[in-house]
Amino acid sequence: MKVLVIGSGAREHALCRSLSLDPAVTALHCAPGNAGIGEVAELHQVDALDGKAVAALATDLGAELVVVGPEAPLVAGVADAVREAGIPCFGPSGEAAQLEGSKAFAKDVMAEAGVPTARSYVCTTPAEVDEALDAFGAPYVVKDDGLAAGKGVVVTGDLDQAKAHANACDRVVIEEFLDGPEVSLFAITDGETVLPLQPAQDFKRALDGDEGPNTGGMGAYSPLPWAEPKLVDEVLQTVLQPTVDEMRRRGTPFSGLLYAGLAITSRGVRVIEFNARFGDPETQVVLARLKTPLAGVLLAAADGTLADLEPLRWSDDAAVTVVVASHNYPGTPRTGDPITGLDEVAAEDAPHAYVLHAGTERDGDAVVSAGGRVLSVTATGTDLSEARERAYTAVGRIRLDGSQHRTDIAAKAASGSV
Ligand code: AMP
Repeated sequence: MKVLVIGSGAREHALCRSLSLDPAVTALHCAPGNAGIGEVAELHQVDALDGKAVAALATDLGAELVVVGPEAPLVAGVADAVREAGIPCFGPSGEAAQLEGSKAFAKDVMAEAGVPTARSYVCTTPAEVDEALDAFGAPYVVKDDGLAAGKGVVVTGDLDQAKAHANACDRVVIEEFLDGPEVSLFAITDGETVLPLQPAQDFKRALDGDEGPNTGGMGAYSPLPWAEPKLVDEVLQTVLQPTVDEMRRRGTPFSGLLYAGLAITSRGVRVIEFNARFGDPETQVVLARLKTPLAGVLLAAADGTLADLEPLRWSDDAAVTVVVASHNYPGTPRTGDPITGLDEVAAEDAPHAYVLHAGTERDGDAVVSAGGRVLSVTATGTDLSEARERAYTAVGRIRLDGSQHRTDIAAKAASGSV
């Protein structure tokens, strides 16, 4: 099978790594990719938001499956353009991707499908904002309605800060605060059949102890030793299947990856948000544990034959990923710094630990930083402690001037707490 992956983050590197290990994949292409992906796939330049250009590239390459990684191309309708060219595509239509593209749309689908989520108001005027903040009280949760790469949400006890964020957005969703640990649960779906993957937890804040600003994600781990074994099945019944059924009922079936961001509150599971694609960095740890070859699963979702698939097989190993970010991330990151130590990780730590690239590019023989999140250092082990130790040993070999990473990824879970 010839496969084209669209995107350039560590998520796409994880997807390409798994696809490159799948014997069914005879040719692997990625656009635009990054320095690390270039080692397992042939890279191509394309405007990932231009559906016609992506479809033309896929046609030229003879691709038999296109996998769209990030949300922006999905919302822009890239999967529709690829399908119109007659090529199976893993990823929802532009209309269905509104589950992620508009928080207000997602709330409407959830209400219709009876999916448990935070109570919320959609506000467009300062008066509505004041009323909603007053109704819920502190801590305040204020969300930009549009796509914001995980950074459009402010959770704060400070009323002035909550108002300032709300007034900086055209349309905001203000909602009740959900307490309890968060879980990311991915499901692969063809619009009808829903196949949940293993749950993971990510770390959104920039600094240790969940301090500092929200980011795209600074690390993740899987499995969750503290979660109840019935969690996945419960979320399938109460969240994933009803949402997929409601999308089909509306005439906008959702196929691809449905990502449920969940809070395990004292009153039960609640959806914090949906995403319409694999999450980054959770994908790095979920795919590290998936034993079933990936290409056939993604193709079955793309061509509507998931019901015929054998159950997925999982490794009992634990996986941890630690994100190495540029100086000043999540503010405007410094780029162009050389990265060294990657060969040492490959020589000393493989196969249990490996480096997935995000914002990197080649500069002659050197690999240099090219974005906010630069690397996602991933490791597996018999338990979370071993996976953590291996991941941090590998992180310690990498040198990138001014870089930052959290030192507490999976620490609590490895020591038996949440
Ligand atoms: P979102 O972009 O909706 O995933 O929000 C980003 C992060 O903000 C989430 O991962 C949570 O940590 C936090 N958050 C969002 N909504 C809520 C909520 N209703 N209650 C508590 N925390 C929230």
